[in-house]
Amino acid sequence: MTAELMQLADRVIAQTYNRFPVVFERGEGCTLWDTQGRSYIDFVAGIAVCSLGHCHPAVSAAVADQARQLCHVSNLYYTIPQTRLAEMLVSRSFADRVFFCNSGAEANEAAIKLARKYFYEKGEPGRTRIISMEQSFHGRTMAALSATGQDKIRKGFDPLLGGFEFIPYNNIGALENAMDASVCAVMMEPVQGEGGVICPDPGFVQKVRRLCDDNGVLLIFDEVQTGMGRTGTLFGYEHSGVAPDIMSLAKALANGLPIGAMLAVEEVASAFGPGAHASTFGGGPLVTAAALATLGTLTNDDVVGHCAAMGTYFKSKLQGLKEKHGCVEAVRGQGLLVGLKLKQEAGSLVTRCMEEGFLINCIQDSVLRFVPPLIIGKSQIDALVDCLDNLLSE
Ligand SMILES: *Cc1c(COP(=O)(O)O)cnc(C)c1O
Repeated sequence: MTAELMQLADRVIAQTYNRFPVVFERGEGCTLWDTQGRSYIDFVAGIAVCSLGHCHPAVSAAVADQARQLCHVSNLYYTIPQTRLAEMLVSRSFADRVFFCNSGAEANEAAIKLARKYFYEKGEPGRTRIISMEQSFHGRTMAALSATGQDKIRKGFDPLLGGFEFIPYNNIGALENAMDASVCAVMMEPVQGEGGVICPDPGFVQKVRRLCDDNGVLLIFDEVQTGMGRTGTLFGYEHSGVAPDIMSLAKALANGLPIGAMLAVEEVASAFGPGAHASTFGGGPLVTAAALATLGTLTNDDVVGHCAAMGTYFKSKLQGLKEKHGCVEAVRGQGLLVGLKLKQEAGSLVTRCMEEGFLINCIQDSVLRFVPPLIIGKSQIDALVDCLDNLLSE
Protein backbone atom coordinates (compact mmCIF):
# COMPACT_ATOMS: atom_id res chain seq x y z
CA MET A 1 0.00 0.00 0.00
CA THR A 2 2.72 2.48 1.01
CA ALA A 3 4.80 2.13 -2.16
CA GLU A 4 1.68 2.25 -4.34
CA LEU A 5 0.46 5.40 -2.60
CA MET A 6 3.78 7.15 -3.11
CA GLN A 7 3.80 6.18 -6.80
CA LEU A 8 0.25 7.45 -7.22
CA ALA A 9 1.10 10.73 -5.46
CA ASP A 10 4.13 11.22 -7.71
CA ARG A 11 1.86 10.77 -10.73
CA VAL A 12 -1.11 12.98 -9.80
CA ILE A 13 0.19 15.70 -7.46
CA ALA A 14 2.05 18.77 -8.76
CA GLN A 15 5.78 18.20 -8.55
CA THR A 16 6.50 21.21 -6.35
CA TYR A 17 7.76 19.21 -3.38
CA ASN A 18 10.67 16.83 -2.89
CA ARG A 19 9.17 14.39 -0.44
CA PHE A 20 10.86 11.88 1.83
CA PRO A 21 9.69 8.31 1.12
CA VAL A 22 7.39 7.97 4.08
CA VAL A 23 3.61 8.12 4.50
CA PHE A 24 2.48 9.47 7.87
CA GLU A 25 -0.73 8.16 9.30
CA ARG A 26 -0.99 9.23 12.93
CA GLY A 27 0.50 11.66 15.41
CA GLU A 28 0.36 12.25 19.14
CA GLY A 29 2.41 14.79 21.08
CA CYS A 30 5.94 14.86 19.66
CA THR A 31 5.60 11.46 17.97
CA LEU A 32 4.51 10.52 14.44
CA TRP A 33 3.78 7.04 13.10
CA ASP A 34 4.14 5.98 9.47
CA THR A 35 2.10 3.37 7.60
CA GLN A 36 4.72 0.72 8.44
CA GLY A 37 4.13 1.31 12.14
CA ARG A 38 7.52 3.01 12.64
CA SER A 39 7.62 5.92 15.07
CA TYR A 40 9.57 9.15 14.80
CA ILE A 41 10.31 11.96 17.26
CA ASP A 42 9.28 15.10 15.43
CA PHE A 43 11.63 18.10 15.45
CA VAL A 44 9.85 19.63 12.42
CA ALA A 45 6.28 19.91 13.75
CA GLY A 46 4.88 20.48 10.26
CA ILE A 47 7.40 23.35 9.85
CA ALA A 48 6.86 25.16 13.16
CA VAL A 49 3.10 24.60 13.04
CA CYS A 50 2.06 21.93 15.55
CA SER A 51 3.42 23.75 18.60
CA LEU A 52 1.24 21.91 21.12
CA GLY A 53 2.18 18.59 19.54
CA HIS A 54 0.11 16.48 17.17
CA CYS A 55 -3.60 16.13 17.84
CA HIS A 56 -3.55 18.02 21.13
CA PRO A 57 -6.74 16.89 22.91
CA ALA A 58 -7.96 20.44 23.62
CA VAL A 59 -7.58 21.47 19.96
CA SER A 60 -9.00 18.24 18.56
CA ALA A 61 -12.02 18.53 20.88
CA ALA A 62 -12.59 22.18 19.90
CA VAL A 63 -12.44 21.26 16.19
CA ALA A 64 -14.79 18.29 16.63
CA ASP A 65 -17.30 20.36 18.62
CA GLN A 66 -17.18 23.27 16.20
CA ALA A 67 -17.49 20.93 13.19
CA ARG A 68 -20.79 19.70 14.59
CA GLN A 69 -22.03 23.24 15.29
CA LEU A 70 -21.00 25.54 12.41
CA CYS A 71 -18.15 25.45 9.87
CA HIS A 72 -18.65 28.39 7.55
CA VAL A 73 -20.94 31.35 6.96
CA SER A 74 -18.59 33.93 5.31
CA ASN A 75 -17.66 37.35 6.61
CA LEU A 76 -21.04 38.80 5.72
CA TYR A 77 -21.98 37.91 9.30
CA TYR A 78 -20.55 37.88 12.82
CA THR A 79 -19.44 34.62 14.41
CA ILE A 80 -18.51 33.82 18.00
CA PRO A 81 -15.07 32.14 17.71
CA GLN A 82 -13.67 34.73 15.26
CA THR A 83 -14.65 37.56 17.60
CA ARG A 84 -13.28 35.83 20.70
CA LEU A 85 -9.99 35.03 18.95
CA ALA A 86 -9.52 38.61 17.75
CA GLU A 87 -10.18 39.85 21.29
CA MET A 88 -7.61 37.39 22.68
CA LEU A 89 -4.94 38.36 20.10
CA VAL A 90 -5.51 42.06 20.62
CA SER A 91 -5.37 41.76 24.43
CA ARG A 92 -2.07 39.85 24.28
CA SER A 93 -0.26 41.96 21.66
CA PHE A 94 0.51 45.56 20.66
CA ALA A 95 -2.34 45.49 18.15
CA ASP A 96 -5.87 46.93 18.15
CA ARG A 97 -7.42 45.07 15.22
CA VAL A 98 -7.09 41.77 13.37
CA PHE A 99 -7.75 40.79 9.75
CA PHE A 100 -8.11 37.04 9.29
CA CYS A 101 -6.97 35.04 6.27
CA ASN A 102 -5.74 31.52 5.56
CA SER A 103 -1.95 31.43 5.36
CA GLY A 104 1.27 33.26 6.06
CA ALA A 105 1.61 34.55 2.51
CA GLU A 106 -1.90 35.94 2.65
CA ALA A 107 -1.23 37.63 5.97
CA ASN A 108 1.76 39.34 4.38
CA GLU A 109 -0.31 40.31 1.32
CA ALA A 110 -2.72 42.00 3.72
CA ALA A 111 0.15 43.72 5.55
CA ILE A 112 1.62 45.07 2.30
CA LYS A 113 -1.75 46.25 1.04
CA LEU A 114 -2.55 47.92 4.36
CA ALA A 115 0.79 49.76 4.49
CA ARG A 116 0.27 51.23 1.02
CA LYS A 117 -3.40 52.01 1.63
CA TYR A 118 -2.50 53.79 4.88
CA PHE A 119 -0.34 56.35 3.10
CA TYR A 120 -2.79 56.64 0.21
CA GLU A 121 -5.55 57.51 2.69
CA LYS A 122 -3.19 59.93 4.45
CA GLY A 123 -2.73 61.84 1.21
CA GLU A 124 0.83 60.58 0.63
CA PRO A 125 0.28 58.29 -2.37
CA GLY A 126 3.96 58.61 -3.31
CA ARG A 127 5.00 56.58 -0.29
CA THR A 128 5.00 53.09 -1.80
CA ARG A 129 8.50 51.63 -1.42
CA ILE A 130 8.93 48.72 0.95
CA ILE A 131 12.35 47.89 2.36
CA SER A 132 12.76 44.21 3.08
CA MET A 133 15.78 42.14 4.08
CA GLU A 134 18.14 39.91 2.13
CA GLN A 135 17.62 36.21 2.94
CA SER A 136 14.08 36.94 4.13
CA PHE A 137 11.11 34.69 3.45
CA HIS A 138 7.58 36.07 3.28
CA GLY A 139 5.67 33.52 1.19
CA ARG A 140 4.99 32.41 -2.37
CA THR A 141 2.13 34.58 -3.63
CA MET A 142 3.21 37.40 -5.92
CA ALA A 143 3.42 40.27 -3.41
CA ALA A 144 4.88 38.07 -0.65
CA LEU A 145 7.34 36.70 -3.20
CA SER A 146 8.25 40.24 -4.27
CA ALA A 147 9.07 40.96 -0.62
CA THR A 148 11.20 37.81 -0.30
CA GLY A 149 14.94 38.48 -0.48
CA GLN A 150 16.09 35.20 -2.00
CA ASP A 151 16.86 35.00 -5.72
CA LYS A 152 16.44 31.23 -5.91
CA ILE A 153 12.80 31.60 -4.77
CA ARG A 154 12.03 34.63 -6.99
CA LYS A 155 13.62 33.25 -10.15
CA GLY A 156 11.32 32.63 -13.11
CA PHE A 157 8.36 34.72 -11.98
CA ASP A 158 9.19 38.16 -13.40
CA PRO A 159 7.81 40.72 -13.55
CA LEU A 160 7.36 40.77 -9.80
CA LEU A 161 5.58 43.56 -7.99
CA GLY A 162 7.50 46.84 -8.08
CA GLY A 163 8.60 48.91 -5.12
CA PHE A 164 10.53 46.33 -3.11
CA GLU A 165 14.17 46.72 -2.11
CA PHE A 166 16.49 44.65 0.02
CA ILE A 167 19.12 45.53 2.56
CA PRO A 168 21.31 43.06 4.48
CA TYR A 169 19.82 41.90 7.80
CA ASN A 170 21.62 43.50 10.76
CA ASN A 171 23.00 46.34 8.60
CA ILE A 172 21.49 49.50 10.08
CA GLY A 173 23.65 51.76 7.89
CA ALA A 174 22.17 50.24 4.74
CA LEU A 175 18.68 50.86 6.09
CA GLU A 176 19.56 54.45 6.94
CA ASN A 177 20.78 55.00 3.35
CA ALA A 178 17.62 53.47 1.88
CA MET A 179 15.26 55.74 3.86
CA ASP A 180 13.54 58.66 2.15
CA ALA A 181 10.09 60.17 1.70
CA SER A 182 9.06 57.47 -0.78
CA VAL A 183 9.42 54.64 1.76
CA CYS A 184 6.18 53.28 3.12
CA ALA A 185 7.31 50.39 5.30
CA VAL A 186 10.18 48.27 6.54
CA MET A 187 9.34 44.57 6.59
CA MET A 188 11.32 42.00 8.55
CA GLU A 189 11.26 38.78 10.54
CA PRO A 190 12.28 39.17 14.22
CA VAL A 191 14.38 36.04 13.59
CA GLN A 192 14.88 34.94 9.99
CA GLY A 193 13.57 31.38 9.79
CA GLU A 194 13.79 29.97 6.26
CA GLY A 195 16.81 32.18 5.59
CA GLY A 196 18.92 30.05 7.92
CA VAL A 197 17.83 30.89 11.49
CA ILE A 198 19.46 34.32 11.58
CA CYS A 199 19.01 36.31 14.81
CA PRO A 200 19.11 40.08 15.07
CA ASP A 201 22.26 41.59 16.56
CA PRO A 202 21.67 43.22 19.97
CA GLY A 203 20.06 46.61 19.39
CA PHE A 204 19.30 46.07 15.70
CA VAL A 205 15.52 45.82 16.04
CA GLN A 206 15.44 48.88 18.31
CA LYS A 207 17.48 50.87 15.77
CA VAL A 208 15.13 49.81 12.96
CA ARG A 209 12.17 51.02 15.02
CA ARG A 210 13.88 54.36 15.68
CA LEU A 211 14.72 54.86 11.99
CA CYS A 212 11.11 54.09 11.07
CA ASP A 213 9.82 56.60 13.63
CA ASP A 214 12.28 59.28 12.53
CA ASN A 215 11.20 58.88 8.91
CA GLY A 216 7.46 58.36 9.42
CA VAL A 217 7.73 54.83 8.05
CA LEU A 218 5.64 51.82 9.15
CA LEU A 219 7.30 48.76 10.63
CA ILE A 220 5.95 45.34 9.64
CA PHE A 221 7.04 42.23 11.53
CA ASP A 222 6.49 38.93 9.78
CA GLU A 223 5.90 36.68 12.80
CA VAL A 224 4.47 33.82 10.76
CA GLN A 225 7.24 31.57 12.10
CA THR A 226 8.37 33.42 15.26
CA GLY A 227 4.87 34.05 16.64
CA MET A 228 2.78 32.04 19.10
CA GLY A 229 5.51 31.21 21.58
CA ARG A 230 8.12 29.77 19.24
CA THR A 231 10.97 32.03 20.40
CA GLY A 232 10.19 31.68 24.11
CA THR A 233 7.94 34.75 24.30
CA LEU A 234 4.41 34.82 22.89
CA PHE A 235 5.62 37.04 20.03
CA GLY A 236 9.18 37.37 18.79
CA TYR A 237 9.12 41.16 19.05
CA GLU A 238 8.88 40.95 22.85
CA HIS A 239 12.61 40.10 23.00
CA SER A 240 13.52 43.51 21.61
CA GLY A 241 10.99 45.46 23.64
CA VAL A 242 9.78 47.30 20.55
CA ALA A 243 6.49 46.67 18.82
CA PRO A 244 5.72 46.91 15.10
CA ASP A 245 2.78 48.77 13.55
CA ILE A 246 1.68 45.71 11.61
CA MET A 247 2.32 42.00 12.28
CA SER A 248 1.53 38.85 10.33
CA LEU A 249 0.83 35.48 11.96
CA ALA A 250 0.00 32.04 10.62
CA LYS A 251 1.90 28.76 11.08
CA ALA A 252 1.28 27.78 14.74
CA LEU A 253 -1.79 29.94 15.28
CA ALA A 254 -4.26 27.02 15.14
CA ASN A 255 -1.81 24.14 15.81
CA GLY A 256 -2.20 22.71 12.30
CA LEU A 257 -5.41 24.12 10.87
CA PRO A 258 -4.92 26.66 8.07
CA ILE A 259 -5.24 30.21 9.35
CA GLY A 260 -3.45 33.52 8.93
CA ALA A 261 -3.86 36.85 10.64
CA MET A 262 -2.70 40.41 10.08
CA LEU A 263 -2.69 42.59 13.18
CA ALA A 264 -2.27 46.36 13.31
CA VAL A 265 -2.54 49.38 15.56
CA GLU A 266 -5.76 51.40 15.26
CA GLU A 267 -4.22 54.38 13.42
CA VAL A 268 -2.99 52.09 10.62
CA ALA A 269 -5.81 49.53 10.68
CA SER A 270 -8.34 52.31 10.09
CA ALA A 271 -7.07 52.60 6.49
CA PHE A 272 -8.88 49.32 5.76
CA GLY A 273 -12.56 50.28 5.49
CA PRO A 274 -15.42 48.11 4.20
CA GLY A 275 -14.54 46.60 0.82
CA ALA A 276 -10.81 47.40 1.03
CA HIS A 277 -9.76 43.79 1.53
CA ALA A 278 -11.52 40.45 2.06
CA SER A 279 -11.26 36.68 2.27
CA THR A 280 -14.09 34.17 1.83
CA PHE A 281 -12.69 31.62 4.24
CA GLY A 282 -10.72 34.05 6.44
CA GLY A 283 -11.34 33.54 10.15
CA GLY A 284 -14.01 30.89 9.68
CA PRO A 285 -15.55 29.27 12.77
CA LEU A 286 -13.66 25.98 12.49
CA VAL A 287 -10.13 27.37 12.32
CA THR A 288 -10.76 30.15 14.82
CA ALA A 289 -12.20 27.65 17.31
CA ALA A 290 -8.98 25.65 16.88
CA ALA A 291 -6.89 28.81 17.36
CA LEU A 292 -8.80 29.76 20.49
CA ALA A 293 -8.09 26.34 22.01
CA THR A 294 -4.45 26.62 20.94
CA LEU A 295 -3.90 30.08 22.38
CA GLY A 296 -5.74 29.15 25.57
CA THR A 297 -3.55 26.07 26.08
CA LEU A 298 -0.33 27.97 25.22
CA THR A 299 -1.11 30.43 27.99
CA ASN A 300 -2.76 28.28 30.68
CA ASP A 301 -0.14 25.52 30.60
CA ASP A 302 2.79 27.99 30.40
CA VAL A 303 3.95 26.28 27.22
CA VAL A 304 5.84 29.44 26.29
CA GLY A 305 7.87 29.36 29.52
CA HIS A 306 8.64 25.68 28.91
CA CYS A 307 9.72 26.54 25.35
CA ALA A 308 12.17 29.17 26.62
CA ALA A 309 13.69 26.69 29.09
CA MET A 310 13.93 23.87 26.52
CA GLY A 311 15.42 26.26 23.95
CA THR A 312 18.21 27.20 26.34
CA TYR A 313 18.81 23.54 27.19
CA PHE A 314 18.77 22.45 23.53
CA LYS A 315 21.23 25.15 22.49
CA SER A 316 23.63 24.26 25.30
CA LYS A 317 23.57 20.63 24.17
CA LEU A 318 24.22 21.67 20.56
CA GLN A 319 27.04 23.91 21.77
CA GLY A 320 28.58 20.72 23.16
CA LEU A 321 28.42 19.21 19.66
CA LYS A 322 30.11 22.30 18.25
CA GLU A 323 32.99 21.97 20.71
CA LYS A 324 33.41 18.31 19.81
CA HIS A 325 32.94 18.32 16.03
CA GLY A 326 34.99 20.57 13.76
CA CYS A 327 32.34 20.47 11.03
CA VAL A 328 29.90 22.49 13.16
CA GLU A 329 30.19 26.21 12.45
CA ALA A 330 27.55 27.77 14.71
CA VAL A 331 24.56 27.22 16.98
CA ARG A 332 21.87 29.85 16.44
CA GLY A 333 18.33 30.63 17.41
CA GLN A 334 15.85 31.85 19.97
CA GLY A 335 13.57 29.63 22.05
CA LEU A 336 12.76 26.52 20.02
CA LEU A 337 13.62 28.05 16.67
CA VAL A 338 17.08 26.54 16.58
CA GLY A 339 19.67 26.22 13.83
CA LEU A 340 22.91 24.24 13.57
CA LYS A 341 25.11 25.66 10.83
CA LEU A 342 27.57 23.17 9.40
CA LYS A 343 30.66 23.89 7.33
CA GLN A 344 29.38 21.34 4.83
CA GLU A 345 26.20 20.22 3.07
CA ALA A 346 23.75 19.05 5.76
CA GLY A 347 20.93 17.42 3.76
CA SER A 348 22.26 13.88 4.07
CA LEU A 349 22.03 14.16 7.88
CA VAL A 350 18.27 14.66 7.58
CA THR A 351 17.93 11.28 5.85
CA ARG A 352 20.26 9.60 8.35
CA CYS A 353 18.32 11.05 11.31
CA MET A 354 15.10 9.80 9.78
CA GLU A 355 16.53 6.29 9.58
CA GLU A 356 17.25 6.64 13.30
CA GLY A 357 13.68 7.79 14.05
CA PHE A 358 14.07 11.59 14.20
CA LEU A 359 12.55 14.17 11.90
CA ILE A 360 14.67 17.26 11.35
CA ASN A 361 14.88 19.78 8.53
CA CYS A 362 17.66 21.30 6.42
CA ILE A 363 17.55 24.84 5.02
CA GLN A 364 19.98 26.85 2.88
CA ASP A 365 21.91 23.60 2.17
CA SER A 366 24.05 23.72 5.31
CA VAL A 367 21.77 24.64 8.21
CA LEU A 368 19.87 22.04 10.23
CA ARG A 369 16.71 23.63 11.57
CA PHE A 370 14.95 22.30 14.66
CA VAL A 371 11.41 23.54 15.32
CA PRO A 372 9.89 20.81 17.51
CA PRO A 373 6.54 21.08 19.28
CA LEU A 374 7.04 23.52 22.17
CA ILE A 375 6.10 20.70 24.58
CA ILE A 376 9.26 18.75 23.73
CA GLY A 377 11.11 17.36 26.77
CA LYS A 378 14.75 17.05 27.81
CA SER A 379 14.88 13.30 27.19
CA GLN A 380 13.74 13.76 23.59
CA ILE A 381 16.30 16.53 23.06
CA ASP A 382 19.00 14.32 24.61
CA ALA A 383 18.06 11.45 22.28
CA LEU A 384 18.32 13.63 19.18
CA VAL A 385 21.62 15.21 20.25
CA ASP A 386 23.08 11.73 20.92
CA CYS A 387 21.95 10.67 17.45
CA LEU A 388 23.54 13.76 15.87
CA ASP A 389 26.70 13.18 17.89
CA ASN A 390 27.01 9.66 16.47
CA LEU A 391 26.24 10.76 12.92
CA LEU A 392 28.75 13.63 13.05
CA SER A 393 31.40 11.19 14.32
CA GLU A 394 31.00 8.98 11.24
C1 LIG B 1 6.18 29.99 6.35
C2 LIG B 1 6.37 31.46 6.30
C3 LIG B 1 5.61 32.26 5.45
C4 LIG B 1 4.62 31.70 4.46
O1 LIG B 1 3.55 31.06 5.07
P1 LIG B 1 2.55 30.17 4.17
O2 LIG B 1 1.48 29.78 5.14
O3 LIG B 1 3.33 29.01 3.65
O4 LIG B 1 2.05 31.05 3.08
C5 LIG B 1 5.79 33.63 5.51
N1 LIG B 1 6.68 34.18 6.34
C6 LIG B 1 7.44 33.43 7.17
C7 LIG B 1 8.41 34.11 8.09
C8 LIG B 1 7.33 32.05 7.17
O5 LIG B 1 8.11 31.32 7.96
